[in-house]
Amino acid sequence: MATTKQAKGSARASRYKELKKMLENRRRELMDEVQGRIRDVRADGCKDREVFDQGESSEVDIQEDIEFALIQMKSETLNKINEGLRRLDEGTYGNCFECGEEIAEARLRALPFAVRCKDCEEARETAEQRERMLAQKRGSTPLFFDVSN
Ligand SMILES: [Zn+2]
Repeated sequence: MATTKQAKGSARASRYKELKKMLENRRRELMDEVQGRIRDVRADGCKDREVFDQGESSEVDIQEDIEFALIQMKSETLNKINEGLRRLDEGTYGNCFECGEEIAEARLRALPFAVRCKDCEEARETAEQRERMLAQKRGSTPLFFDVSN
């Protein structure tokens, strides 16, 4: 069945290309955003120091902290994207952690760092919901009640 194998191979190649493009686009967007924010913070920082007095500058500090937290968050996402690109080259990106099947491209576009396919994720959520319901039924009773006391 040479034709089937070939078709599968080229499907994998185009999936690789699509996923790579998707990750690289996201990386570019994030880098632009991070760089833009860093520029904004710097620009604001200079201006604020000249204009505001001590009382108001603490508010500015909080604002700057939020900006830096955002930048940090985006940098972490950026790292994840780089990691994803590395794994894509290794051929391990986009495969379900549980069943090893390929995660649908649409799902990866929505959730680039999804580690489970839709089926496995749903199964896990259902299991978690059941656990929560059982925990609620048990109320405040500890899960592992020490009978030796
Ligand atoms: Zn799966």
